[in-house]
Amino acid sequence: MTKTLIEETPMNTAVNVVWLKRDLRLSDHQPLVQAIKSGQTLLYYVFEPLLINDPHYDERHWRFVWQSIADMNSQLAAFNSRVYLYFGDAIAGLIEINNVFKISGLFSHEEVGLLSTFERDKSVQQWCQAQDIVWNESQFGAVSRGKKNRIDWDKHWHQVMKAPLEQAKLSDDVLASCTLIDKLFFCSFPISWSITDDFMLKGGELWAQRTLQSFLKGRGKGYHFDISKPQASRKSCSRLSPYLAWGNISLREFYQTILITRSERGWKRPIDALASRLHWHCHFIQKFESEHQMQWRPVNKAYNDLMYPDIHCGLSVEERLDKWKTAQTGYPLVDACMRCLEQTGYINFRMRAMLVSFLCHHLLVDWRLGVTHLAQLFLDFEPGIHYPQFQMQSGVTGTNIIRVYNPVKQSLEKDSHGEFLRKWLPELVELPNEVIHTPWLLSPMEQQLYQCQLGDDYPSPMVDINETGKIARDLLWGFRQRFTTKKEGQRIVAKHVRGNKKISKAKKPQQLKIAESD
Ligand SMILES: Cc1cc2nc3c(=O)[nH]c(=O)nc-3n(C[C@H](O)[C@H](O)[C@H](O)COP(=O)(O)OP(=O)(O)OC[C@H]3O[C@@H](n4cnc5c(N)ncnc54)[C@H](O)[C@@H]3O)c2cc1C
Repeated sequence: MTKTLIEETPMNTAVNVVWLKRDLRLSDHQPLVQAIKSGQTLLYYVFEPLLINDPHYDERHWRFVWQSIADMNSQLAAFNSRVYLYFGDAIAGLIEINNVFKISGLFSHEEVGLLSTFERDKSVQQWCQAQDIVWNESQFGAVSRGKKNRIDWDKHWHQVMKAPLEQAKLSDDVLASCTLIDKLFFCSFPISWSITDDFMLKGGELWAQRTLQSFLKGRGKGYHFDISKPQASRKSCSRLSPYLAWGNISLREFYQTILITRSERGWKRPIDALASRLHWHCHFIQKFESEHQMQWRPVNKAYNDLMYPDIHCGLSVEERLDKWKTAQTGYPLVDACMRCLEQTGYINFRMRAMLVSFLCHHLLVDWRLGVTHLAQLFLDFEPGIHYPQFQMQSGVTGTNIIRVYNPVKQSLEKDSHGEFLRKWLPELVELPNEVIHTPWLLSPMEQQLYQCQLGDDYPSPMVDINETGKIARDLLWGFRQRFTTKKEGQRIVAKHVRGNKKISKAKKPQQLKIAESD
């Protein structure tokens, strides 16, 4: 088949290929700008079984990607072009393009991803070299590849964020036409990806911009008040995370847009709070880039010796993990968060931290056993944020404050009227505010009155958090005091903590204020 197509393609047209990864947009896209400057350009996205079958991913992610590409295609239609979609191995897709056309250059952003994508990129690099194709990789946000410490990192972040947006000059002349793209192998894709899920945010540049504008037109005014509340945060937080994770908007465009609103009355505090989180975004991804082994071991190697018990509170690891995953812990806020995530793909920062703390502290389950489950559920799954955050919240960094969250206290404080609980746990809907956070305190008569039989309609608590909290604190603090933990902590601080200042040897890691949690 390919042979005939080569004959039909005029002069084996030379094309630059822009390999889209987690940068599904046309705006502020350096690889696109560079490719277009040097010749006719084809945009390429490959749906890889490597990732589709990976336990970090779920159909929700591919639906979001599908929607993002549909949005790009609707913009590209004005130039009689579209994104070439391939299903399979990344190199196989490039071979197909190179057989039909002639790839003159490959352009993409650097990917800070899982080990599997790093290994895949090494193979792609080898393939490019063998074909004499130059692969031009642009930096991802302010994340520098191969950085050994944070000297001048902050300065670099600001330089990147303040630089002008890179806008490609799109035209029919520079983009590969649909007629040319039609010559490439046509793949089919699961129908389910094109079906909208009304509970989830919809992908694409258009929706990214709409979400940002609605935040700046009013919803964001309460950002700093509502950020930790599971219900109110859904409206008051930016909700840009999936758009950043899949690159429907660049961090720089987001940052520059919010700064315009900062000078308006009532916006200074929310915008400053938000801007600092955009800084953390790259800070965490940089951590993962500099120490990718975090995917399978604690950043603080001393915690490799931390043994999680096979049996805890009479339950096996599998039972504990299963009840957490299936929202059957008997702690309403934990279960409501899990159900909400399952259906909507989103929960705010504090609740994410609490879910991890419940699993790793109250249930004493190794963080590695829960990390892919939440990745699957988070529509905004971003390896570079997810792994460092998961480790930080599970208490295995040795450099951050250990927070053992009490889900009842969180519930009383952050959802005092039980609005969020009632939304996600309809079996508790009749319970008055005073008992909805602690249904196990209902008397048999009250259970009948409120139509909530403990053990039947809603589970009894699987553990006693007063006991488990103490066990976890003793274990983690004991570990924190170890010489090896502290020594590793010093290494981590020297490598990953921001700032130009020389880190004093005398300064113990736990005394350093690390501005990276809510
Ligand atoms: C265990 C755990 C896992 C997490 N995994 C992810 C993940 O896979 N992908 C992801 O985008 N965020 C992750 N976060 C960080 C944070 O919870 C989300 O970024 C945030 O809730 C997204 O909502 P938002 O866009 O409305 O955030 P906003 O508060 O409006 O913040 C705007 C953006 O800033 C960045 N940001 C905000 N908080 C943080 C933070 N604490 N650390 C780093 N960047 C931050 C995000 O890109 C976010 O979209 C995780 C947090 C925890 C505790």
